[in-house]
Amino acid sequence: MRKYGCSEEELFSFLSSVKGRDLGYNKVLSSMCTLPHPVAVKAHNLFIESNLGDPGLFSGSMSLENLLVERLGTLMHHPAAGGYGTSGGTESNLQALRIAKSLKKTSSPNIVVPASAHFSFDKACDILSLEMRTVPYDEGYRMDSGQIEDKIDKNTICLVGIAGTTEYGVVDPISHLSDLAEERDIYLHVDAAFGGLVLPFIENSPVFDFRLPGVSSISIDPHKMGLSTIPSGCLLVKDENMFRELGVDTPYLTVNREYTLHGTRCGAAVAAAVSVIEYLGTEGFSSIISECMANTQRLISGMERLGYPLVVQPDVNVAAFECEINLPGWVISRTRAGHMRIVPMPHVTRDIIETFLTEIGEANV
Ligand SMILES: *Cc1c(COP(=O)(O)O)cnc(C)c1O
Repeated sequence: MRKYGCSEEELFSFLSSVKGRDLGYNKVLSSMCTLPHPVAVKAHNLFIESNLGDPGLFSGSMSLENLLVERLGTLMHHPAAGGYGTSGGTESNLQALRIAKSLKKTSSPNIVVPASAHFSFDKACDILSLEMRTVPYDEGYRMDSGQIEDKIDKNTICLVGIAGTTEYGVVDPISHLSDLAEERDIYLHVDAAFGGLVLPFIENSPVFDFRLPGVSSISIDPHKMGLSTIPSGCLLVKDENMFRELGVDTPYLTVNREYTLHGTRCGAAVAAAVSVIEYLGTEGFSSIISECMANTQRLISGMERLGYPLVVQPDVNVAAFECEINLPGWVISRTRAGHMRIVPMPHVTRDIIETFLTEIGEANV
């Protein structure tokens, strides 16, 4: 640390030059995050000092968190769902597995996940000492229904399905998982970190939420398609009492029990998340999602015309292609199987897609 602080001018000229090295989102085609909505930024700034880790001090912020849970619970067809604002899908998934582990005590617990599971499950299994059993893909890159039961045994504490996979944008056979969860009395966690704020706004999309009776909990990330500021995730549970499994005594706070993972928590991002929801409403979300889906379809038809086949028709705005090209200047990722993966987020406008298609078409010849 320097002995005497620098001037504000020096500081901010340093910060601006460093920020210039961040890519921004302009030519980023692989991120599940995007530019936050202006109302999210405004709300975030308004609640900048809010600490939800000590909710007695911030009862206004806490009421916003309750509203967020109520809104997302209602969107998931269960207005009475319990929940809290997490730092993102990783924390939500970890916390869901902690609940599942606590609800079913066995000496060598395992969980059954699809091959497409996000790497947050690797972290969670490491932290919680869980064995991860992976169900292979079917031909549509979804969890193969026919192979799930083989992986389940008496030590299975949790089944996991993904609603909007990170790599291929598809939804696992969650209603089948729900049947299995009910029959075998196993916790079912649905990772809708990405799809949770996309699928409800698409007509005839697969059912993945609390309408399925076996679903115990759901992860949804407002900092992805919810256009909120980072870090905003949300974990929803079917019954608020499930959080009792995680309670610890917190003697010197304004509340005496805490079930969250983080202690000090960002109230600003919760305010941002709920603000976007209030500001846009279902109509606003529907129009943003339908534009992203139309852009996804335009990308797909453009790529196919250039001779790069789509791997699987996605359920959300993620598309993977058989295409080996690495186009300079663009940020594009690859799936574990090596497919080109593009996420048409709101910052990926129609113009950007047209430019990309033109450039990739020229790279072809
Ligand atoms: C993004 C994502 C995660 C991880 O969320 P973070 O917010 O990055 O912690 C988990 N699961 C799925 C399906 C995701 O898309």
